[in-house]
Amino acid sequence: MRIIRTIQEMRAETEARRRAGETVGMVPTMGFFHEGHLSLMRRARAECGMVVVSLFVNPTQFGPGEDLAAYPKDFERDCALAAAEGVDAMFAPEAGEMYAGDHATFVNVERLTGNLCGASRPVHFRGVATVVAKLFNACRPQRAYFGLKDYQQVRVIETMIRDLNFDIELVRCPIVREPDGVAMSSRNSYLSAEERRAATILRRSLVAAGKRIKEGARDGAAIARELREAIETEPLARVDYAEVVDAESLAPLGRIHGAALLAVAVRIGRARLIDNLVVET
Ligand code: AMP
Repeated sequence: MRIIRTIQEMRAETEARRRAGETVGMVPTMGFFHEGHLSLMRRARAECGMVVVSLFVNPTQFGPGEDLAAYPKDFERDCALAAAEGVDAMFAPEAGEMYAGDHATFVNVERLTGNLCGASRPVHFRGVATVVAKLFNACRPQRAYFGLKDYQQVRVIETMIRDLNFDIELVRCPIVREPDGVAMSSRNSYLSAEERRAATILRRSLVAAGKRIKEGARDGAAIARELREAIETEPLARVDYAEVVDAESLAPLGRIHGAALLAVAVRIGRARLIDNLVVET
C-alpha cells in the first residue's frame, strides 16, 4: 500500500489507474480505524479496481471547544489495517497541504444542515462538505463509500454531489455495531468502562421507538419525546437531540409516513455519540 502525502501525487496515482480502465473507489476517514471503517474498505475492494482511503482529521469541521486536538490517532496501526484489507493507497495529507494559509472557499449545503448535528455543531457540515469536495478533487474517484452511522453527512454529501455535478456515485454502507448494539466509533475510545456500558442506551432507545412506529404509532413529536425520555433513564447520558425526521429531507415529521429517520446525539462522559434508525412505514 502506498502512502501519499500530496495532492499532486494522489492525482497522478489515480489518473494512471483510471486511464487503464479501472474504477477508483474512495473511502474518506479521520482514522483510528475500527470495523466500521474496515467494512467500507472491504466493500470498495470488492467493487473497484483501485481503492484509496483518505485519512485526514479535518480542522474546519470542528468547532471551538470540540475534540480536534484530542481526536484519537494511531497512524501505524491504521496503515497495517488498511493494507490488510487490500487498500492500494492511503492519502494522508498534512493540514497545510489541504488548506492554504489564506484559504477562502467553502461549500455550504443550505438545506439539510440546520437541524440534528447541524444545530449543535454550526460549522460542522460546512467543513465536511468543503473537505470532501477537496478530497474528491484530489483523488477523482468514480465511487465514494460512506457509512450510514453519519446519516446526515450522507444526505449532505449526496446533495453536494448532485448540486455541484460531481461525477461520483455515493455508496451508502450499513452501520457496523459492537455485539451489544453500540455503533462503532473512534470516539468510543473516550469512554470509561461504566460509560461504555451506559452507551447501550442509544441503540436500545432507538429500537424501542422503532417498535412503537412498527406497531402503528404515528405522532412524530410524541415518539421523539419518548425517545428522549428513554435515553434520559440512563443517568450518565445527556441528550443533545432526539428527533424523528423525514429520511430524505431531514425535516421534522409531525405525522410519520414513508421512511422516518430516528436520530440521536448523546453526551456520555467527554464523548458525544450519535446513532440512528430508519423505519419504513
Ligand atoms: P470517520 O473516520 O468517523 O470520519 O468515519 C469515516 C467513515 O466511516 C464515514 O463514512 C463514517 O460514516 C464511516 N463509519 C464510521 N463508523 C461507522 C460504523 N460504525 N459503521 C459504518 N460506517 C461507519
